[in-house]
Amino acid sequence: MDLGIAGKWALVGGASKGLGWGCASALAHEGVNVVMVARGAEALEASVARLRSQTAGRVQVLGVACDITTAEGREAIWSVQGGPGKDFDIVVTNAGGPPTGDFRDFDREAWIKAVDANMLTPIELIKATVDGMAARGFGRIINITSSAVKAPIDILGLSNGARSGLTGFVAGLARSGVAAKGVTINNLLPGKFDTDRLAATLQGAVQKTGKSLDEVRNAQTAQIPAKRFGNPEEFGAICAFLCSQHAGYINGQNILPDGGLYPGTF
Ligand code: NAD
Repeated sequence: MDLGIAGKWALVGGASKGLGWGCASALAHEGVNVVMVARGAEALEASVARLRSQTAGRVQVLGVACDITTAEGREAIWSVQGGPGKDFDIVVTNAGGPPTGDFRDFDREAWIKAVDANMLTPIELIKATVDGMAARGFGRIINITSSAVKAPIDILGLSNGARSGLTGFVAGLARSGVAAKGVTINNLLPGKFDTDRLAATLQGAVQKTGKSLDEVRNAQTAQIPAKRFGNPEEFGAICAFLCSQHAGYINGQNILPDGGLYPGTF
């Protein structure tokens, strides 16, 4: 299927690794020019080089090493040499998730950091780009959030709270005037995907329980109807489809790729 988005420009946050990499890679393979953002310059340069080599000059792949949660970081994205300024057709918002813990230990600073990264940063990115998309008659915004929005996990209080705030905001904006101008805004809620972040979580469980990594992995995958973790490639493919011309009637949705883990009918 031709997704019909070749030649568009996409901004992808957290793109050096994991789910962001999966999205950047899937979009570039569909002919989309991508600006990849990540904090660590070294990992980002390696990922930019990898994607350039995989796409062999068919698309432009640019990298911006910055903290996307800061105004300076976002300014660096808008002004990157060879980039589209703020005229992105596709924006995939994504940054690291907040730490786990007992809510009694989270102080104001921890909350502000989580809200900044997982709610206000996506809103700032949307604010900078959505009106341009609407004026040009096409736009796709995907927010990578978490299955914790739908099925909250107690130790993920910062994530549950901050991401739910974003979800509520997006639900309103997606149904506003921009919807009639070809702009869709959807959230992708990952369940358990095999990335560095998941590896760190598993390692935490190894230390806490004294079990081996294999035991911890097997115990977790056993709870997932698909009996495995997801991988960044399949996550990226979902993202690319939602960004396609064919997905123009999917708007304001929370899509949950989790191998069937969420037990509800809806
Ligand atoms: P990851 O650790 O594999 O990759 C994170 C990427 O984000 C890296 O490229 C890193 O450089 C970048 N990044 C982090 N903070 C940044 C910042 N402030 N500015 C710019 N770049 C930044 O993580 P992942 O597993 O791909 O997760 C992506 C998002 O999805 C996270 O918010 C995570 O909490 C959420 N999530 C992941 C899972 C999962 O199973 N992997 C499940 C639920 C939610």
